[in-house]
Amino acid sequence: MDGSTVLAMTMTEATGPTPVLELAALTKKYGSVDAVSNVDLKLHEGEFLTLLGASGSGKSTILMMIAGFIQPTFGDIRLRGKSIVKTPPHKRRIGVVFQNYALFPHLTVYENVAFALRNARMAREHIDQRVQELLMKVRLEQLAHRLPSQLSGGQQQRVAIARALAIDPDILLFDEPLGALDKNLREHMVLELQRLHHQLGTTMVYVTHDQIEALVMSDRIAVMDAGRIVALGSPQELYDNPKTVFVAEFLGNSNILVSEDGRCEALRPERIQLGSISEGCQRSQGTVTEVAFLGDRVRYEVRLTNNQTIVVAVPRRQGIEVYEIGAQVTVGWHRADARPVTRDNA
Ligand code: ADP
Ligand code: MG
Repeated sequence: MDGSTVLAMTMTEATGPTPVLELAALTKKYGSVDAVSNVDLKLHEGEFLTLLGASGSGKSTILMMIAGFIQPTFGDIRLRGKSIVKTPPHKRRIGVVFQNYALFPHLTVYENVAFALRNARMAREHIDQRVQELLMKVRLEQLAHRLPSQLSGGQQQRVAIARALAIDPDILLFDEPLGALDKNLREHMVLELQRLHHQLGTTMVYVTHDQIEALVMSDRIAVMDAGRIVALGSPQELYDNPKTVFVAEFLGNSNILVSEDGRCEALRPERIQLGSISEGCQRSQGTVTEVAFLGDRVRYEVRLTNNQTIVVAVPRRQGIEVYEIGAQVTVGWHRADARPVTRDNA
C-alpha cells in the first residue's frame, strides 16, 4: 500500500464514500463569456443526474469538460478522487452519447460497436463476444448487420449507447440524446434509458432542456442558469418545494402569488380547485378569462378580485363542471401548497 492509498482511505473514512465524479469550482470562460461558473457537484455511484437548463446555460460545456474535449479555465474534475483534468479523453473511461449519435455510416451496427473496442485495443479474440454482449444489452442483436441508414432513430440511438458502453466506462454522459426524435419515440426512449440504467447501474450524467425527461429519469436534477447550478435535488423535492421563482417556473408551471409587501409564493396550477372547494382551503373569487382544452385536463385562466390572474389545471374526471369564459367562479387551495420562493437565484 503506498502513501497515496493510505491518504485516500483516510479521507474516505472521514467524509463518506468517495464520489464517482466530483466537480470543484469548475469554470470555463470564453473571453468575457462565462460559459460555466464555479460549478460544484458530487455524483454518487450508480446515480442518474440530469443537468437541466435552457439553451446556452452551459450544460454541454460541463459535459465536454468531464469527457475531456474542453479544458477548464479553472477548477478541478475528479474521478473516484483523482484529478483527471490533465488526462486525455480516451484514457478517462468515460463514455459519451451525442444527439447526432456520430455513427459511422459505412459501417454496420456490429462494426460500429467493434470499432470502439479495436480503438481501445481489446484483444481480437474477445471482440466478437463483447460486441454480442453489448448488442444484447441494447436489444439490437437481430440487427447487427444493418447499416445505420437502415435503422430507425431510436435504434441508431441504441447503437450509440452500445458503442459508448464498449469501454466499460465508469460514467456515461448523454448530451440531449433524444432531441432529434419525434415525441412518441422520445417517450419510448426515455423508458428504454431508464431500463438500461437500472440494468447496468452505471453512473450517468444526462443533459437536456426537457423537464419531462429530467423528471422521469433522474435521481437528482441540477437546474442550470447562465453557467451556474441554481438548484439541486430529487425531481420531487425540486417540483414540490422550489426555492426560487426561476425553478418554480422552469420545472413545471407555477403561479407566482405576490403579497403586498413583495413576498412571493409559488402555487402549482393542479393544486388549485375550481367550483366546489374542499374543507380547510383558502378561497377566492374570480372570473374565467381563458379556457384551453388539453385532452387530459382543462387549463383555465382566472382573474381574481385583486386583479392577479392565476392558471388552474383541472383534470377531466367524470362529473367535473366545465366553465366558459366570463363565468364567475370560486377557486381554492390548501395554504401549505403555496410555497415561499425568492426572486434571487444565487
Ligand atoms: P448549452 O449546452 O446549455 O446549450 P453551452 O454549454 O453549449 O450551452 O454554451 C454555454 C455558453 O457558452 C453559451 O453562451 C455559448 O454561446 C457559449 N459558448 C460555448 N462554446 C463556445 C465557444 N467555443 N466559444 C465562445 N462561446 C462559447
Ligand atoms: Mg448543448
